[in-house]
Amino acid sequence: MKYYSTRDKSVRMEAAEAVKMGLSRDGGLLTPVEIPQIDEAFLRALVDQPYAVRAAKVMALYLTDYTEEELLGFANNAYGPEKFDTPAVAPLRKVDANTHCLELWHGPTSAFKDMALQMLPQLLSAALRKTGEDKTACILVATSGDTGKAAMEGFADVPQTKILVFYPKDGVSAVQEAQMVTQEGANVGVCAVVGNFDDAQAGVKRIFSDESIRATLAERGYFLSSANSINWGRILPQVVYYISAYCDLLRDGEITMGDKVNFCVPTGNFGDILAAYYAKRMGLPVGKLICASNRNDVLTDFLRTGVYDRNRPFHTTMSPSMDILVSSNLERLLFDLSGENDEEVRGYMDALAKTGKYEVSDAIRAALQEQYWGGYCDEAGTAATIARYERDYGYLIDTHTAVAADVLAQYRAATEDETLTVFASTASPYKFCNHVLTAIGQTPEGDGVELLEQLHSVSGVAIPRRLAALKGKARRFDLTCEKAGMDGVVLDFLR
Ligand SMILES: *Cc1c(COP(=O)(O)O)cnc(C)c1O
Repeated sequence: MKYYSTRDKSVRMEAAEAVKMGLSRDGGLLTPVEIPQIDEAFLRALVDQPYAVRAAKVMALYLTDYTEEELLGFANNAYGPEKFDTPAVAPLRKVDANTHCLELWHGPTSAFKDMALQMLPQLLSAALRKTGEDKTACILVATSGDTGKAAMEGFADVPQTKILVFYPKDGVSAVQEAQMVTQEGANVGVCAVVGNFDDAQAGVKRIFSDESIRATLAERGYFLSSANSINWGRILPQVVYYISAYCDLLRDGEITMGDKVNFCVPTGNFGDILAAYYAKRMGLPVGKLICASNRNDVLTDFLRTGVYDRNRPFHTTMSPSMDILVSSNLERLLFDLSGENDEEVRGYMDALAKTGKYEVSDAIRAALQEQYWGGYCDEAGTAATIARYERDYGYLIDTHTAVAADVLAQYRAATEDETLTVFASTASPYKFCNHVLTAIGQTPEGDGVELLEQLHSVSGVAIPRRLAALKGKARRFDLTCEKAGMDGVVLDFLR
């Protein structure tokens, strides 16, 4: 299977090369030239298999330059008992007769980013071997909280890689900061940036495009790479859990083979819901894809009107991983819906870069509305939904998950579609103790990791063991820099 760029189809490469590059040089996203198809026999064969086998079989369809045995080895490392706190890896929790919640936060950092970031480093490390690369890959990450920790956890002590994470000094939750500054591993580094997430992100982008830094690093035996969700190696492991959820529903007798299910996904950069779309395109029986946003509702408007317009206020919300106005992975969807028309996609992306806005063709708009339904949930709605789930179902959900649960309720009220729906739960409520406690009527007492205990004592839900272990864990990193000093931090780190 070859991969090509959404902005130039003549750029073609193997999967290993695509994983190593992350992004095409023309700015496009690297995308498989065809979407492999699965049938009932394929699904039936997965029903009684553990998650790691499901992952290897699905990924092997796309990564034809990796062997299935190789992928199974990676999956066993990624999703084994040392990393995930349940053998189901991505279990479904039944909420009511036609509503199930797909819990994606049982990994080492308690956010769904682990599902892909436990896998990507292994795909990358193998890609270095397969492409005969002798330099060390240095992963630079700007994070608003979840990605940085999950990426460090995935890359810690992976041979021929180093990872350096920048986070906004006052822009992450106390638990998130504690998670990052206590990270173990000889090849990791963390630095706080004075400023907000955009400052950190702009700094990383500048370093990526600085030819003189690249040349210096090349002399020292390094090249820069990215673990951002535009890397195909992050999308593919996410396709797996939608197929896995369908298999679990079959196994548990909740559906019969061929029944359609809907997926509802709390969305930021459009990676997670794009993976659900690929599962559908592969032939998984899927009805609607319900795209849930917080107050940053650019996608809701887009799905309804066909106009993508990022010229609007940026809202800081209690679901920060979805505070985003440019959803990068949407480009892959446009490419597919346009009939792989690279020229058309380039036109949209040029307009977005120049004016912050584009309008898709009537054909794409019709296709979008056929496949998707979009809605958003504001801050009061998020808190009310956390309280409602706790009260009605005894189920504690985090702020991002609550956005999905609320938008699902809106969808049902608007359409009367009662199809069995799986909504994604993307973080443990313990990552956002403060907001969750407030939502269920408690007054947060103390700060940061102290709130873990408080939430535990009122909810009785077990604290994820890695979060519980943060208390008293030694801080390893204490570095802070100004935005302009980020280059120096990189050059120091890569001596
Ligand atoms: C990253 C993230 C999201 C958004 O996922 P996308 O793939 O960017 O759409 C939602 N919830 C949580 C908790 C996240 O960390």
